[in-house]
Amino acid sequence: MLAPGLADSIRAQAAASAPRECCGLLEGWRDGDVWHVQALHPAGNLAADADRFSIDPAAHFAAIRAARLAGRAIIGCYHSHPGGQARPSAADLQGAGAEDFVWLIAADRELAAFLYRGGAFLILATGADWVTSSE
Ligand SMILES: [Zn+2]
Repeated sequence: MLAPGLADSIRAQAAASAPRECCGLLEGWRDGDVWHVQALHPAGNLAADADRFSIDPAAHFAAIRAARLAGRAIIGCYHSHPGGQARPSAADLQGAGAEDFVWLIAADRELAAFLYRGGAFLILATGADWVTSSE
């Protein structure tokens, strides 16, 4: 679940970065099999190619520190697929490594969330309106 406003914020970042991919980290917590995203940590994309993303390590460490201070954790990442589809690419699979890490992907209209577990991406949520939480 995404806290209110976060989906719009990701879409705005994706639009601003296009045709390059935007990227960042998801701060929140896990409640059983439900992942709650409470804040975003936008990060610079260090990838040379337009259809790749590589989160700036300094931004990554800063996000981990900020999440800890808030009593939360970095539970996942997000990036965009300008002109593409909201599902992981072969490059995403290759770049994934952390177990039980949420991958949120924003395509032009769609936003979808996946969980990397056991060497594969499981679908957590899809659809334009996945993203509401009453908190
Ligand atoms: Zn991707």
